Amino acid sequence: MKLMFLTPHAVAGIVIAAKIQNPFLAIILAFFSHFVLDAIPHWTTSITNLLRDKKAFVVLLIDSFLSLGLGLFFAFREGFSTSKFWLILICAGMAILPDAMRIPFYFFHCRSRFFQGWENIHISIDQDVRRNTLFFGKKTFGILTQMLAILLLFWLLLS
Ligand SMILES: [Zn+2]
Repeated sequence: MKLMFLTPHAVAGIVIAAKIQNPFLAIILAFFSHFVLDAIPHWTTSITNLLRDKKAFVVLLIDSFLSLGLGLFFAFREGFSTSKFWLILICAGMAILPDAMRIPFYFFHCRSRFFQGWENIHISIDQDVRRNTLFFGKKTFGILTQMLAILLLFWLLLS
């Protein structure tokens, strides 16, 4: 299972929550932002062999903590008692959800129609550099696109 790093997705969710006034619209947009980002050519480590691949495990851990940390940071920045606090956390979660929904397929071998269908949809949109030999399969470019996406999102957030 390969996925785009979670951090760009989380930041997209945070930006949407901060900028969109209607909370329902924000939550829906956060969910679909996942696919917009996945459609950008990117590179990531495979996390299918998490138990055997220590490096992938550490990368996923850092990526997860970074996503959570950023979500909490910007949520608390809005203030704990504000409605934006929860909206930021929910939208960050919604932006990651399409990948989280693949966990049963890969780790619990749920091969039901729903999870198989979801996986097919996800894979058809996901532009992994290695799979499609985009950028000639170059890892650096695939990481660079995600850094650029994060920078652009931060710019949007803080502007
Ligand atoms: Zn994804």
